[in-house]
Amino acid sequence: MVKFDVLSIFPEMFTSPLNFSLLKKAQEKGLLSISLHDIRSWADDKHKMTDDAPYGGGCGMVMKVEPVEKALNKIRNLQDDSVVVLMTPQGEVLNQKIAVELSGKKSIIIICGRYEGVDERIREHLVDREISIGDYILTGGELPALILIDAVSRFIPDVLGNPESTQSESFSANILEYPQYTRPAEYKNWGVPDVLLSGNHAEIEIWRKRKSLKRTYQRRPDLLEKIKLSDEDEKIMDEIKQEDI
Ligand code: SAM
Repeated sequence: MVKFDVLSIFPEMFTSPLNFSLLKKAQEKGLLSISLHDIRSWADDKHKMTDDAPYGGGCGMVMKVEPVEKALNKIRNLQDDSVVVLMTPQGEVLNQKIAVELSGKKSIIIICGRYEGVDERIREHLVDREISIGDYILTGGELPALILIDAVSRFIPDVLGNPESTQSESFSANILEYPQYTRPAEYKNWGVPDVLLSGNHAEIEIWRKRKSLKRTYQRRPDLLEKIKLSDEDEKIMDEIKQEDI
């Protein structure tokens, strides 16, 4: 069981996306739990302010440190083995490896920034890990947090109907997944490769491996640089490169 605690000034943004499909079922089965915390409820002043102007001037507002620290103190005391994650475009970019690592934690506390970002002291003193979902800027950390929760949850045992799904899909072995087809076998003259209809599982495996490698070579050659291919796969890659010339 992994417990997610999310700190946000817009906790309502989470309710709908978390109440569908596999994440909903996983919560019902007690495989994971998600608690939402409104950072405003830890703001002391009468207007419940969670932001203030940046020291030194400049545009926008900055998320204050005190409400976040108070919220964390309260939540962290109740959890063992927790990791505190700040969603920030300046963090390490989320990938399958990070998702697998976090799925082994008992408690993940996620801070969603807003405005022009968060007071640097949150990052310096309160956070274990900073995670980005890519090189672009969103209006807040809520969508990034949802993406993180989804990506991590798929690796929590029993969340997916078939655990093998995570082994063959894109990025699991640093190569992209092969193309998938389903019924009908013919639609508007758009066919399905004969091999997939042949019932010959050995041939299908070879076809899939070849397609995976070719697709990765064409679309994400950077991934291939990170792995050591088997002799057999090297041979397939040589053939693919020849076809490409
Ligand atoms: N001024 C900040 C900067 O340049 O790094 C960006 C602040 S952004 C408008 C507000 C908040 O949205 C951030 O504090 C962060 O929590 C979240 N955010 C925006 N883009 C993100 C991304 N690519 N990955 C993770 N979080 C992001």
